[in-house]
Amino acid sequence: MGEKAARAAAPSTLRTRVLLVLAGFMALLAVAGWFAFNYIVDQTALRVGALVAERQVQYDRYRGLETLRREVALAEAMVRAPNIIAWAQNEYDAEIRERGIAELEHYRRAFEDESVFLVIDGSRNYYFNDSQDSYAGDPFQYTVRSDNPRDGWYFTTRSRREGCYLNVDHDDFLGVTKVWINCIINQDGQVLGIAGTGLDLSAFIRDVVDVPQPGIESMFVDESGAVQAHRDASMVDFHSLTKDIAQKNVVFSLFDTPSDMAALRAMMATTANPDSGQTVQAAYLSVDGKPMLVGVGYLDEIGWYNVTVMDIDTIVDKGLFLPIGLLFAALMGVAVLVMVYVFKAMVLDRLEKVEGGLSSVRDGKRVQFSPDPRNDEIGRLSRALAEMSNAVTDSELGLERQIRERTEQLEALVNRDALTGVFNRRGFAYAFETMREQAYGDSWAYGLLLVDIDHFKRINDSQGHPVGDQVIVEVARRLSTAVRKSDVCARWGGDEFLILIRNCEAARLARIAAGLVEMMRSVPITLDDDRELAVTMSIGTAIIQSGDTIETATAMADAALYRAKAEGRDCVIAYDANLASAG
Ligand code: GH3
Ligand code: MG
Repeated sequence: MGEKAARAAAPSTLRTRVLLVLAGFMALLAVAGWFAFNYIVDQTALRVGALVAERQVQYDRYRGLETLRREVALAEAMVRAPNIIAWAQNEYDAEIRERGIAELEHYRRAFEDESVFLVIDGSRNYYFNDSQDSYAGDPFQYTVRSDNPRDGWYFTTRSRREGCYLNVDHDDFLGVTKVWINCIINQDGQVLGIAGTGLDLSAFIRDVVDVPQPGIESMFVDESGAVQAHRDASMVDFHSLTKDIAQKNVVFSLFDTPSDMAALRAMMATTANPDSGQTVQAAYLSVDGKPMLVGVGYLDEIGWYNVTVMDIDTIVDKGLFLPIGLLFAALMGVAVLVMVYVFKAMVLDRLEKVEGGLSSVRDGKRVQFSPDPRNDEIGRLSRALAEMSNAVTDSELGLERQIRERTEQLEALVNRDALTGVFNRRGFAYAFETMREQAYGDSWAYGLLLVDIDHFKRINDSQGHPVGDQVIVEVARRLSTAVRKSDVCARWGGDEFLILIRNCEAARLARIAAGLVEMMRSVPITLDDDRELAVTMSIGTAIIQSGDTIETATAMADAALYRAKAEGRDCVIAYDANLASAG
């Protein structure tokens, strides 16, 4: 019972289950889609970031550093100029000094910044002039001293003995911040001094470092990681040449973890290595807990690295991808609806119809459910079930017909006389009661005839019992065919028969009875061996009215028959009250 009740309680579990499975599947798809979406966005951003870093390096090379390179080349030429070398060797010779200053002025006007400096190693005297020609006539400024930390750059550069070096320096004394190009004056292996020029750092930053794009910060760092140029001047590590690594404002301190710092160091090493073939590297590194795309490019001309830190969320607004996400979600929703609809139309509705057809057959409504016409699994199942249920219905109907037939046969056996086929006592009693039930009111009257064969014992005795049986059968046949179908003819027992005539008054009853007696007397019975046997019979009649039971009715007829026998047989006697009192 439990299983049946459960099935009744949840009749649409397949639909629910399919919906749940679909919903789960879609959720899985959504999660996978979300990860794929983020992966694609990140990969795209990484690609974009690498491109930005590369572009930045190219930009620095061909725009910003072109000037720097030109300045370096110019400074290199200047420190090889004979007038400069001569002055560095003879600082206080008036003529040489004048030619030296003129040479210096010549280069100053050629330099981008229109400033120039010279330190003569012998005296440590520092000469300087700028674009305003502020120090015309007397370019001497001061004397650098090894015990002055501000002059550290000179001694650090000097120890390198030859070549040109870049240094970002904030000159507190002069109040200018510049990228200094420091070239060593070297004559025959002897350091005579350092000369060069400066580039205004703010202009440099504007040209090179100041990326207008929000979310991108670009900076220059040297090989130790010290920040050389940055949009935010406070980030720049001034005096980087003279500082210990530990004190420097190094780029590595931007990042949160030692592994990120090591990653940047590795990227710098890769881009600086000409054999790596990688001029640009990009990776996600964490800054203040936020992943930033960091691009690194190496500028071999000056030995600096360009480090670009990009906030991808600012540069690439992930909201741009929202329409794609929404489209994806909408497509999935539509797909679910279509799948549910298709499943409903192709499977659920059809199964429901089959189920309905079957249950109506089961409930005995005998509706021949029309099977699904399509030639697929459900169609075939439906047809098979229809055939099966029709077969079951047919056999059920056949069985019921058989039962009805058998029941009728059994009823016949019970109500009919086996020898003659007419009603027996029981059948007559049933017919008599039916007659009483069907009769309305008090005015009706039926006729009852009790028929008895005369001297039947003698036939039995003289002809044998089988001949007696033949006589009984023939008498029954004649009596039943002589009356109407609606009348009742029954064997009452032995050689006695009862006939019930519908709606019959006394005169008609007398005529019928007389006719029967006459018919028996005048037509002998032909036996099986073709012998003819004359048989007569006696009849007692009675009129039956409402209130008469079968007992009183047969008693009346019996009394009349008794009188007929007594009066010599082969006659009819109708019952009357005198008979009753006489009987
Ligand atoms: P009566 O004229 O007074 O009726 O004389 P009867 O000899 O016919 O007497 P009764 O009606 O009393 O006799 C009936 C006899 O019918 C008695 C019995 O032996 C015989 N009988 C009863 N049933 C059958 C039967 O089925 N077959 C044959 N052959 N004889 C039967
Ligand atoms: Mg008799």
